[in-house]
Amino acid sequence: MPDTYTFWTPTERSAFVAFWDDGTVDEGPMLGADEVICDACDCDICFTPVPLADGYALCDDCFKERFGLTVEEAAAKEDIVITRKEEE
Ligand SMILES: [Zn+2]
Repeated sequence: MPDTYTFWTPTERSAFVAFWDDGTVDEGPMLGADEVICDACDCDICFTPVPLADGYALCDDCFKERFGLTVEEAAAKEDIVITRKEEE
């Protein structure tokens, strides 16, 4: 199966949701729409939308290593424009 990726625009969400056997539900702390880390190397991802491969978010370096093209090049194929956050 070929490697594929999709683009995901993060929204505010819970870090996790846990459903327990007794029916209670625990939700993790809220993450902001701009709080995304690379699932491969744990670095901050400072652009949106974020590429997902098999459901895992990838940063610039990990994406390029896996797919051999930059996030911008991949996005351009799908008429998606990557927005980079201002450096602080
Ligand atoms: Zn990475």
